[in-house]
Amino acid sequence: MNFLKSTLLLPLFLLPFACRQTEEAKTPDLKADPHSFAQPNEAVTKHLDLHLAVDFDQKKLSGYAKWTIENKGADEIIFDTRNLDIQKVTIGKDERVTEYFLVDPDELLGTALRVKIEPETDMVTIYYATKPGAAALGWMEPSQTAGKKLPFLFTQGQAILTRTWIPCQDSPGIRITYDATIQTPIGMLALMSAENPQEKTADGIYHFRMEQPIPPYLIALAVGDIAFKAVGPRTGVYAEPPLLEKTAWEFADMEKMVESAESLYGPYAWGRYDLIVLPPGFPFGGMENPRLTFATPTVIAGDRSLVSLVAHELAHSWSGNLVTNATWNDFWLNEGFTVYFERRIMEKLYGKEYVDMLAALEYQELLDEIKDINAGKHPEDTQLKLDLAGRDPDEAGTDIAYQKGAFFLQYIEEKSGRERFDAFLKQYFEEHKFQVMTTEEFLAYLKKNLLDKYKIDVNVDEWVYQPDLPADFPIPHSDRFAKVEAAAKKVADTLPDTTGWTSHEWVHFIRQLPENVDVATLKKLDEKYNLTQSGNSEILFAWYETAIRRGYSGQILPSIENFLVNVGRRRFLMPIYRAFKETGQLETARKIFEKAKSGYHAVSYGSVEQLLNNGE
Ligand SMILES: [Zn+2]
Repeated sequence: MNFLKSTLLLPLFLLPFACRQTEEAKTPDLKADPHSFAQPNEAVTKHLDLHLAVDFDQKKLSGYAKWTIENKGADEIIFDTRNLDIQKVTIGKDERVTEYFLVDPDELLGTALRVKIEPETDMVTIYYATKPGAAALGWMEPSQTAGKKLPFLFTQGQAILTRTWIPCQDSPGIRITYDATIQTPIGMLALMSAENPQEKTADGIYHFRMEQPIPPYLIALAVGDIAFKAVGPRTGVYAEPPLLEKTAWEFADMEKMVESAESLYGPYAWGRYDLIVLPPGFPFGGMENPRLTFATPTVIAGDRSLVSLVAHELAHSWSGNLVTNATWNDFWLNEGFTVYFERRIMEKLYGKEYVDMLAALEYQELLDEIKDINAGKHPEDTQLKLDLAGRDPDEAGTDIAYQKGAFFLQYIEEKSGRERFDAFLKQYFEEHKFQVMTTEEFLAYLKKNLLDKYKIDVNVDEWVYQPDLPADFPIPHSDRFAKVEAAAKKVADTLPDTTGWTSHEWVHFIRQLPENVDVATLKKLDEKYNLTQSGNSEILFAWYETAIRRGYSGQILPSIENFLVNVGRRRFLMPIYRAFKETGQLETARKIFEKAKSGYHAVSYGSVEQLLNNGE
C-alpha cells in the first residue's frame, strides 16, 4: 500500500474550497515527488523573501516567508510544513488575509498547508514561528561550542527538513531564488547559502541574496560567534574565533580545488566558495549549501589529511546544486556523481596512489553496507534507482548512492576512455545547469551522447536496476594497501613499520587486523602508536569500532565515551553504537547515549535512538 498517497488524497474531499485540475496547465518539467505535498503544476513557488528573528532563549525563529509564485490559474497553493506555528496568511502585495487549511499531519512528511488564492494571485505571505524541536535546527548551548560563551544555531535542510523551519514547496524538483533578512542577538554573525557578510554588524541585522535558483533543501542558516578569513581570491573560511587559524591552515588548498574542478567540468557557477566549520553537534561530514559548505570540525586533523571532504562538497557545486536529483529516488545522481568527481579532484591535486587508497577504503565500506542492507527490511535498496514512497528519504543516504554510483561512473569512464567521458560530463553539466534530472533522463542522455555515439557496451540495466554489484564491477586496487594488509596479518609477531603512513593507511590497517587479534596485541599497538589519543577523527573512529569488536574497549572506555559525547557526526556514531550493541554491550551504549544525546542534532539523535531501541 502506498500510505503516502492515502494520507495525501483523503483530505482533498474535506477541503473548504475546491482544487481545480487543468490538464493544459501541467508543466512537464515538474516531476511527481512522493515526499512533497506540493502540486507545482497548479501553482509553484519561484522566489522567497524571508524575514526571521532568531531567539536563542526560546529556541525559536519567527517572522514571515513572502513567496512569489507562478500561478497557472489555480485557486489554491499547497506548501509543505512540519511542526510550524502558522499565524496568518495573506495574498497579494496588499496583503489581504486569506483562508488556509492545515491537513492532519503525516508522521513523516508533516502537514500540507493549503492556502486559498485567486487565479491571478502572484504573492503569498505566511506569518509563522518554528517550534522547539524543529528537526532542521541545531541549537547548540555555549558549552557545545569552541568559544563556550555564546550559543550557536545551524540548519540542516536535506532531505525534507527545510519544511520544519520555512513553509515551502519542499521538493528537490522545485527551484527558487531567495532574499532574506535575519535579526540575530547583537554580537553574533549570521550566514546563509547566499551572498554573505564577512563581519558582524552593530545591530545584528543581516541581509542575504541568492540569485541562482536552488532547491529548498539548500536554504541554510548559521548563527554564532563567527569570524572570517580568506584563503584565496574567491575562497575563505568561517569559524568560531578559537578555530579560525587552524581552519584556514587545514583548508589552504580550497582555491586550488576550485581551479582543478573547473578544469574538469567547466566554470564554477556560484561566485564565491566559502566553508564554515560548525560545532561538533553537526550531524554530517559536510553539507553542500551553495556558496557556503557546512562542515564538521572532525575534518580538522591538523595535517590536511581529511580535505577530500572539501573536494566532495565543492563537487556538489556541479552535481546536486547545478543539476539536481528530481526526487530522492534519484539520489545517486547527486551523490554518485559527486564521489566520482571528488576522486578526480583529489587525483589532480594529490596523485593516483592517494585516490586508489581512498577508493579501496570506500569499496570496503560499500561491501559492508550491502551486507547490512541485505540483512534488513529493504534488500532492494542496493539498486541505484530507489523507490522510497512512504519511507523517510534519508534512507537513500547509503553507500549505494555514493559508492556504487561513483563506481558506475568510473566503470563507464574505463569503458569509454577518460577523454570522451570528461567531454561527455562537461557537456551534460553545461546543458542541464539549474535543472532537475531523473535517472531515466540521465540514462537516455548517456545512451544518446556517449554509449550509442561511440558504440560502447555498458550493462546499464544491471548497474541501475538490479541489486548488489555487477559481475564485472571494477574492484579498486591499491599497492600501498597491499603492504598494509601484509603488515596487519603478522601483527601478532611484529608491530608494523609505519613510517610515511597516511591516515588512509592507518584506517585500513586497523580494519584489516585479524578477527582473532588478542587484547595484548591491541594494547601493544595502542602504547606504541597512541591510537586511542589520535588527533585524526577517521583513525579514532576505526580504532574505537575495532576495539569494541575485539574486546579491548573496556580499557579505553572513557576515551570512547568522550568521543561519542563530543562528536555528533552520524557516520561515526552509528558504527560505534552498533558495535556495542552487537557485542552484547547495549547497556553501555545506552548509558553513553543518555549523556551524549543533548548535543546531537535531530538527524543523529533519531538514528542512534532507533538503533538502540528498535533494532534497526
Ligand atoms: Zn554529498
